[in-house]
Amino acid sequence: MRYAIISDVHANMEALTAVLQKIEAEGINRIVCLGDVVGYHADPNECIEVIRERKILCIAGNHDRAATGLKEPIRFGQAGKRAIYWTRGQLTTESKQFLESLPLTALVNDGGFLMVHASLDPEPNEEIYLYSEGQARTNFQRFRALWPETNVCFFGHTHRPMGFEFRDERVEELDPPRIRLRTGASYLINPGSVGQPRDSDPRASFLIFDSDRQLVQFHRVLFDTNACYRKTEQAGLIYQESFLSRSENLVQRWLEVGKRLRKRIRCGRNSWRGAGGTDT
Ligand code: ZN
Repeated sequence: MRYAIISDVHANMEALTAVLQKIEAEGINRIVCLGDVVGYHADPNECIEVIRERKILCIAGNHDRAATGLKEPIRFGQAGKRAIYWTRGQLTTESKQFLESLPLTALVNDGGFLMVHASLDPEPNEEIYLYSEGQARTNFQRFRALWPETNVCFFGHTHRPMGFEFRDERVEELDPPRIRLRTGASYLINPGSVGQPRDSDPRASFLIFDSDRQLVQFHRVLFDTNACYRKTEQAGLIYQESFLSRSENLVQRWLEVGKRLRKRIRCGRNSWRGAGGTDT
C-alpha cells in the first residue's frame, strides 16, 4: 500500500491543491495528515473542507488546538499568534468541531506506522520540537515503550523534511529524498510542510511511504506563491520579521550548516577507513 503523508498545511489552499494534484498523479491509495491544517495563511475553512471531503485521516497540531480555543497561543511567534486570533473569527461551526475532534496520535495498523504532530517525549504532544539526534534518542525510547509493535513514526511541526534511524542503540540522521527502511531498525520521519516550508526551498513538501517495499520518497511541488501571498496580505497576516526572529532564523541556519559539515567530515573519514587506511 502507498500512503501520502502530508503535514503543516497552514491554511495554504494553493499549496494543498498542488500537492493533492501530484498525489493523484502518483495514484496513491491513502492520504494522512499530521496536523496544523490552519494557521499563518488565509484559507482555514477551505483547507479543512478538502481534508474532510477526501476523508483524510488527520491528527491535531498546536495551531489547530489554539484556533479552537483548546489552548492559548502563548508560545507562538508574532505571525502565528496574529493568525490564530484571525482564524478564530473565521472558523465555521463545522470547521471548529472538526478541529476539536482531532486526536493527538493515530496508529495506522495496515501501514504499520504511528502519527504524531510534534514528538513523543515526555508524552505524545503537538508542541515540543524534535530536531536533534539527542532528542530523537529519547523519542525512540518512548516510541518503543508505548508502541512496541510499530517501527515507523511520522511527525511534523518543524516544517523541515528529515528522518532519524535507531538501530543497535545508535541514532543516525537520514537525509531526503529517499529512505529505505531496514529490518530491526526504528524510524522517526518528517515529511516537511505543505503550506510553509522552512528549509530555504519554497516548494511544498510531502512524502510517499510504500509500506510493502518499506520505502520513503520525499517530494517537492511548486505552487502559486503569489496568489497565496496576496490572500494572506489582504487578511492582514503578513508581518515584518522582527530583528529577534531574523536572528533566530540565522542561528538556526548556521546550526544546520555546521551539522551538515560535521556529517560530511564523518562520512569522509569512514570512506577513508573503508579504503584501507588505519585509524589510530
Ligand atoms: Zn506548523
